[in-house]
Amino acid sequence: MICFKHPEKDAIGTCKYCHRGICMDCTTDLEHGLACKGVHEEYVNTLHNIVMQSAKIYSNTPKTIYAAPVFFGFMGLVFLWFGLVNGDGLTDFATLLGFGFVGFAIYILIYNKKVYSAKKDIISDLR
Ligand SMILES: [Zn+2]
Ligand SMILES: [Zn+2]
Repeated sequence: MICFKHPEKDAIGTCKYCHRGICMDCTTDLEHGLACKGVHEEYVNTLHNIVMQSAKIYSNTPKTIYAAPVFFGFMGLVFLWFGLVNGDGLTDFATLLGFGFVGFAIYILIYNKKVYSAKKDIISDLR
């Protein structure tokens, strides 16, 4: 890769904002990444701050991804119990509702895990 401003020079990396190759003379090293000197430092810093902020929120509360699934799963079991034990069994409305809730809980759990691991990848990329 070569510098986008200096075709005769090798790039030492790419700007985190515009992703163009930049040489030693065109680069500002911001510790967390490289930026075009005098042009994209602000953008890269802002980008970094936003990501780090959401990273902090996520690492502080990783358990929240289980809160909703546990809640809906519990509701589902309560309805299943009502339908099967006190109601008409499998065809009871409460039973159907219970299955719905349990299915929904599993769906949220899978979805949350996906989002969480995607976020983790982004964060480890930036480090
Ligand atoms: Zn740039
Ligand atoms: Zn250059």
